[in-house]
Amino acid sequence: MKQNIFHNASLKLTSLYLIIIMSISLIFSLGFYQVSANELERGIRHQPGPVGQIIRTRNAELLNELLNEQEDAVVVARARLQANLILINIFILLGGGMLSYVLARRTLKPIEEMHEAQSRFTADASHELRTPISAMRLENELALDDDSLTVKDAKELLRSNIEELDKLTQLSEGLLQLAQLDNDSLEMKSVKVSSVVNQAIGRVAKEAGNKKQAISTKKIDTGTMTVNEPSVVEALVTLLENAIKYSPEKAEISVTTKRSKTALDIVVKDNGIGIPEAVQEHIFDRFYRVDSSRNKQVADGYGIGLSIAKSVVESHGGTISVKSAEGAGSTFTLSFPVK
Ligand code: ADP
Repeated sequence: MKQNIFHNASLKLTSLYLIIIMSISLIFSLGFYQVSANELERGIRHQPGPVGQIIRTRNAELLNELLNEQEDAVVVARARLQANLILINIFILLGGGMLSYVLARRTLKPIEEMHEAQSRFTADASHELRTPISAMRLENELALDDDSLTVKDAKELLRSNIEELDKLTQLSEGLLQLAQLDNDSLEMKSVKVSSVVNQAIGRVAKEAGNKKQAISTKKIDTGTMTVNEPSVVEALVTLLENAIKYSPEKAEISVTTKRSKTALDIVVKDNGIGIPEAVQEHIFDRFYRVDSSRNKQVADGYGIGLSIAKSVVESHGGTISVKSAEGAGSTFTLSFPVK
């Protein structure tokens, strides 16, 4: 279906490009023919030489013969000109056809890629939403069929349902945020770097406290940055939440900043479980989670936090990067360009 749409679109675009190329070529050829034919005729008819001499010698018979020859030469020259122009136009039609197809494919490629990413995203999102919903439904059906279900069991089930619903709400909010980041332009304003860092740390203080972890700040920049504050705070919260989730109890997490002439970096470092090198390039992909059995032991999640953080920095013209080794902790850097 999708293949068909893009195939038809590239054929239509190819025809359109070709019509434009051929129209220009034909108009040019007609103009060229008109001018060249006139010039040829004038050149042949007005050339000095035998005709002039014959007029002077008044040899009527010879004059007629030569005039006829001139007429023939004009006809032959015109025919040759026509044939050449037709040949050139056939070449332009063939070359232009190929060029038009290449140009059409090139024009449509980014649109096709965007469409593909959108379809993949929709499919992944509905899969992620369907899995917990089906699990919840099955759990509820089993409980309904269980005649020996006690009030305590029922309450336990309701509690687990509420937990699942909370996670689903989180997921749908994340998906909404991703869609908004894709479509909207962000409202930027100048904010203190320390304010962004403190807001994010404040948001995760409780989770860190639950695991008796300490979040330290070092060398926080005293200047400002021009960003969309809520989304940057959210990105930093994601990095901190991950550092908390993927580090053991009583671990130390640090936030530092670094300013150069061209960029302002916010760096989050933990000494947690780390990320295997082979999968580091995938962790920013939507719905990607490193080995779910490893993750399940330590944390729940849908694998969209880092992809949202990446979209946020990229919408500011910045980058996100990671340095990590399995078992040796991770360092994430949000790098924002400085104007
Ligand atoms: P999730 O909801 O699974 O945490 P993310 O997109 O935030 O989704 O992260 C993707 C994956 O990257 C996680 O599943 C986890 O395996 C890995 N990861 C992210 N941050 C860290 C970290 N600080 N330490 C170890 N692994 C991490």
